[in-house]
Amino acid sequence: MAAPEQTYDVGILGWWYGKNYGSILTYYGLNRAIKELGFSTLMVHEPLGYNGYRVLWPDNILSMEFARRVGYHYTQQEHFSELPALNARARTFVVGSDQLWNPLIGRVNDDLFLDFVDPDNRRVAYATSFGNRGKSKFKPDFVGKHSANLQKFSAISVREGYAVDTAREVFGVQATQVVDPVFLLPTSAYEALADKANVELSGDYLAVFYLDPNPEKRNVAKALADRLGLKRILVIPNPDGGRPLAEELFADPRFEIIEEDAPENFLHAYRSASYVVTDSFHGTAFATIFGKPFSSIYNTQRGVDRFKNLLDWLGFGDSRRLLESDTAETLAANPGLSLELDYALANARIAEGRTRSLAWLQAALTKDVDTKHAAARASNPHPAQPIQTPLTQRLASPEAQSVPLDFKSNNGSWAISGTAEKCQLSVVRGAGERGNLVYCHLPGRIQAGLTYRLSIDWEITTTANVVSLNLRNGKTAKFRAAGHVAIGEKRRVRRTDELDFSVDKEGFNQIMMGASQFKGKSPGLIIHGITLKQAPADALKVELAVPNRTRTFAQIIAEVSNDKKVRDFHDHVNSIDPEIEIHIAKPLKEYTYNSVGGPADILAFPRTTEQFVKLVKSASGRGIPVTVLGLFTNLLVRDGGIRGLVVSTMKMTEVRLEDDCLTACAGAGLTETAFFLQERGKSGLEWAAGIPGTVGGAIVMNAGTNISDIRRSVETVTFLDRNVNIRTVHVADVSWGKRHSSFQENKDWIVLEATFRVRDGNREAMRTEMVQTVEKRARHFPLDLPNHGSTFKWWRAPRLISQSGLVGYRIGGAQISTKQPGFFVNLGNATASDYEALINYAIAKVYEFSGFLMEPEVEVIGERLHRYERYSVVKQAEDAKSLDVR
Ligand SMILES: Cc1cc2nc3c(=O)[nH]c(=O)nc-3n(C[C@H](O)[C@H](O)[C@H](O)COP(=O)(O)OP(=O)(O)OC[C@H]3O[C@@H](n4cnc5c(N)ncnc54)[C@H](O)[C@@H]3O)c2cc1C
Repeated sequence: MAAPEQTYDVGILGWWYGKNYGSILTYYGLNRAIKELGFSTLMVHEPLGYNGYRVLWPDNILSMEFARRVGYHYTQQEHFSELPALNARARTFVVGSDQLWNPLIGRVNDDLFLDFVDPDNRRVAYATSFGNRGKSKFKPDFVGKHSANLQKFSAISVREGYAVDTAREVFGVQATQVVDPVFLLPTSAYEALADKANVELSGDYLAVFYLDPNPEKRNVAKALADRLGLKRILVIPNPDGGRPLAEELFADPRFEIIEEDAPENFLHAYRSASYVVTDSFHGTAFATIFGKPFSSIYNTQRGVDRFKNLLDWLGFGDSRRLLESDTAETLAANPGLSLELDYALANARIAEGRTRSLAWLQAALTKDVDTKHAAARASNPHPAQPIQTPLTQRLASPEAQSVPLDFKSNNGSWAISGTAEKCQLSVVRGAGERGNLVYCHLPGRIQAGLTYRLSIDWEITTTANVVSLNLRNGKTAKFRAAGHVAIGEKRRVRRTDELDFSVDKEGFNQIMMGASQFKGKSPGLIIHGITLKQAPADALKVELAVPNRTRTFAQIIAEVSNDKKVRDFHDHVNSIDPEIEIHIAKPLKEYTYNSVGGPADILAFPRTTEQFVKLVKSASGRGIPVTVLGLFTNLLVRDGGIRGLVVSTMKMTEVRLEDDCLTACAGAGLTETAFFLQERGKSGLEWAAGIPGTVGGAIVMNAGTNISDIRRSVETVTFLDRNVNIRTVHVADVSWGKRHSSFQENKDWIVLEATFRVRDGNREAMRTEMVQTVEKRARHFPLDLPNHGSTFKWWRAPRLISQSGLVGYRIGGAQISTKQPGFFVNLGNATASDYEALINYAIAKVYEFSGFLMEPEVEVIGERLHRYERYSVVKQAEDAKSLDVR
């Protein structure tokens, strides 16, 4: 109902008029929660005039009809310059929630930062989100303008834990994490709406709610229904124009499409379902509100972080996740798919979140919630970029700095109450698990290399023997241990503990604890005060596990560059053939596909077999170990690099076709060679389209796919043996296995070239097949991030990794891909040690889960930074010693 010209307590801004169930029900939740707190509400319609995304909405759309059915009072759409007139109609304005402050969304304009609200009126943000956690999307003009707007808010809450940090670090404002508005109402409120549906559904069925359906997701739904033994599949189309697509995609007698689009029908279909599968964030939220067993395909187009945040908060972690690439086989092996789902922890968290968030909302509508912050705002003329005096400067006096007790939890697993002077942190029932964190800011910047003393006055309730205190980087969420406090006899009594620590990197600006260390009855702590000061440099007398003399990447490069034997060899190669490209101390991470790896002492790129043989002969004559590599696609080169000469064949790319015989040099690209043949109408290597790497590397690894492998294509292999003689073997004389050939046992056999028997083929048909293969690989593999292909040999490995709950698991910068768990990706700053640790961790966890010992396909070579290989009896290490004159 359009609003009569009356006044209201609260004006609500947000996308309540959007044509999707998520936003319609979000504002239903927010509006009704505010009304039930005793305030009258006015829904503010979309202003016009900002840009092409803010449009004049028809009055007969789903959302407007719903608005009238539930009795909203709402304004008419007017030009944004008319918005200030609303100050006469409401004294408080609330903005929220999903995506409203995400600069990447075209509809985000100044009204959503309440720029039109009079200084005397109250501005509140409820569960507003910035989209995903990335911060590069905030450009300086956006930050400048809107941090000034946000300073004027009386209270700000955000939906995601990481958004608290975004608010503070990007916009200089303090925010509290609350639940999404749909969780503000009890299930009964949605049941009452579901009762008003104009469809009648009963019986057992799988409800499918896809915002962005495609054939892969449809197949997942079908296979899932089979897995669950559900004959009937009910599709709820995306109400924003999704019905025609749904009718086309689900035109199969197995699927039935709900007759009419309406929020009440959506809720009814959910309430009656036996199981739900969805790619929608709010579709996931409603599955949990109705306590349904469910699976979610995280929607990469619309933001994955929201799903993770929600499901971590509810204690499900990644266990409810399905992938678009899931097959009947992977679903059959997924232990989480059943018609029963334990909701004990999720329900407790929803109930706790609702109570806490309603209390926050009530306070926000009546007083300044963040009073401490408001005072700071008043005295700071440029609050968007808070300038913190470096702690080291402020600690020039012996006085310790108090740490403000503004604790936050990353996912609502801690109940936090109290004041800045005394703070109670309680682990929410059932949430004493790894990953449930609580943290607060330190009063300044922690400088790398300095020593600090943290003093903490507290009462600890846990049956554990020690509690670890960690330092957290608020920007990256990385953390590291500051130290441990032994509990001893002093449990539940006030005590003071001191901890000395230092860090070797900047950015650790928070102190953090994890819920898993707090066990027993009513686990948690009461903190009376934390102080921090600089400690004497010798305060840390502990014996470090990693010796100080461990070399850094830069030191290794310097050492290698100055090494006489290395320089002499370099000069020698230049003198015998100045055409050979040769480098000293070149970091191999510049070449490896996973972008990790330390320097090679000497790295050479011969272009011909003659140059190659010259290099190998020279090195062998000088006792310099030789490592031959191809395109570096299947390697994990350790951070200490490779001693001796590394020869890459990647520039030996010649290929010749004579009749039906192809000869390819070792460095010819496998995919390039396959397309070389296709263009000439010759068949034999179509299966290899899309496999990176060289022909030489492919022979050594017996590269292949589930269609074929190199052993089935190759005819002869020419190689250099250990006496530097050139020999040729027939394919039948090589022993082959899955990703294995006898070249792996004979490391000093170096592939120089290979011949392939090819036959006539249809150029166009081959091209279509190969392009499809390449495209399919791009869809299924995380090719946008550095990686080394499949980490493990067995095709079942990805499924085992997934079933062991490891999808997305991360150590340092290395992560188990969320797209294809067999691939381990480099998120940007991984080291080889991160990768190695992650591989070992996955092996251990999968073994624990299944008894199956996964075998790496990726080859790990080179030295660790600390070089303890030097003391091993491995042959290569012995060889390497001969070079080490440093
Ligand atoms: C995104 C991605 C997808 C992949 N997909 C597949 C796939 O579908 N199937 C598959 O089998 N593999 C796959 N791989 C792995 C890899 O591409 C292949 O194993 C490839 O054949 C390795 O060739 P390379 O030239 O990169 O070898 P490198 O990684 O450089 O070396 C691998 C091994 O071969 C040895 N070697 C290389 N050249 C020679 C030579 N001339 N003489 C003697 N030894 C040599 C090296 O010493 C090393 O031991 C994938 C990798 C990536 C990054």
